[in-house]
Amino acid sequence: STKHLAALQERMSHNQADIVSPSSRKLTQAVFGQPLTPLKVVEKICLDVKAKGLAAVLKYTEQFDKATVTAKTLRVSHEELVKAYQSASSEFLDCIRRLRDNIMQFQIGLLAKDATLPLSEHYELQLRYRPLRRVGICIPGGAAAYPSSLLMTVCPAQAAEVPEIVVVMPPTSNGANNLDMLAACHLLGVKEVYRVGGAQAVAALAYGVEGLPAVDMIVGPGNVFVSTAKQFVSNQVAIDCLAGPSEVIVVADETAQADFIALDLIAQAEHSPGVAILITWHAELLVEVEKHIVKQLAHLERGELAKAALEDYGCMILTKDKAEAIEIVNSLACEHLHIQTRDPEGFADKVDNAGAIFIGQFTPVALGDYAAGPSHVLPTGGSSRYASGLSANDFRKKTSIVNFTKTGLREVADDVILLAKKEGLTGHAASVQIRLRETLAARPPK
Ligand code: NAD
Repeated sequence: STKHLAALQERMSHNQADIVSPSSRKLTQAVFGQPLTPLKVVEKICLDVKAKGLAAVLKYTEQFDKATVTAKTLRVSHEELVKAYQSASSEFLDCIRRLRDNIMQFQIGLLAKDATLPLSEHYELQLRYRPLRRVGICIPGGAAAYPSSLLMTVCPAQAAEVPEIVVVMPPTSNGANNLDMLAACHLLGVKEVYRVGGAQAVAALAYGVEGLPAVDMIVGPGNVFVSTAKQFVSNQVAIDCLAGPSEVIVVADETAQADFIALDLIAQAEHSPGVAILITWHAELLVEVEKHIVKQLAHLERGELAKAALEDYGCMILTKDKAEAIEIVNSLACEHLHIQTRDPEGFADKVDNAGAIFIGQFTPVALGDYAAGPSHVLPTGGSSRYASGLSANDFRKKTSIVNFTKTGLREVADDVILLAKKEGLTGHAASVQIRLRETLAARPPK
């Protein structure tokens, strides 16, 4: 019903404050002496870093990560990166190399080309792309280590030829103290890696602190403190899309395999929290999928976490037909859409709102998470209505170049003068008229 759909939409545009773990709430209380919302916490940290610089960054690192970082150890040294690389297994490094090559190939292929339009032989208009100079990438280091997030953010920036790429990771065993993460940074050619995470890292990147100069854009996934901090500093630097807790909608009909779908739903739920929704117009499939979910959960490492997420954020929707399924998919505007129907391409054609679409039974979302090529940093919480996933083009800015000859100016001068005068901007009109007079004077009398 419409009521259920509205409730589901509300659920998917999760209230960010709900996504704070009990231990993190305790930490807020311990540091600030009172319970504060993530927005208040972020505001305090960002303003403190802006006013006090590195000292505030180091203080918050001590308080939130329980790690002592100094001005000297803030940046991971070249020697540390090389040592981590040398100690990594060749199996891991070869895997990172192969995935990098896949992602780079796709990201370079999608770069927009400069456009030059000669609309008249007397003037030329161009749209030119240039990379941002300096970009900051946040890599999470709390609950897990994510080499895949490093690949999915660094490779698009490198495809765009950003000259200065800065990676920040909290000084934790899943972050900047993780040798595999440092080895992957070295393999990818990232030279600037800093031991800082959370809101203090975002503030340091936005405002610049001693030893860590400010950047032009901040991207990358993170917890609620990281994503709220990115929004807080977004009047100062560019940021990427809102990439919150993961979501999938699986659309399936009688041609789909229930055991595949069960694992597709579990795979999102194990992000914990992750939203997993099945939509079908084939009632028997619902029963089959549920049976397989119960069976599979028992065998998985994160089975308990996935079960809890499925109970909180999981949902199965039986529609009356395919058309209704399309309508619901478009209104939920989810991050991942996986279509397992007789004609998945035909269904995909009708979908306007989805961060990434996976077609058919042999394209699990995990392929996109790790290997396919498009970045796994995708819009969540219904924001795929207006936002797109991270890509190499986001690391470039467009500059228009306007180049007129005297004759070209004469072609459009009357309209410019008329409209400028209407707007009361007579200086604008005069800046054209003075050139027009000179042009006319240079021409032989009629
Ligand atoms: P994180 O590095 O984002 O956050 C850890 C940092 O949060 C800590 O270093 C600390 O500085 C800060 N922090 C923790 N509690 C705090 C408090 N009470 N007050 C102020 N700061 C506090 O790592 P995480 O916590 O593991 O979160 C990573 C998130 O990123 C997860 O939700 C994960 O699902 C998501 N993720 C998303 C993608 C994607 O592409 N969408 C990829 C990987 C991870």
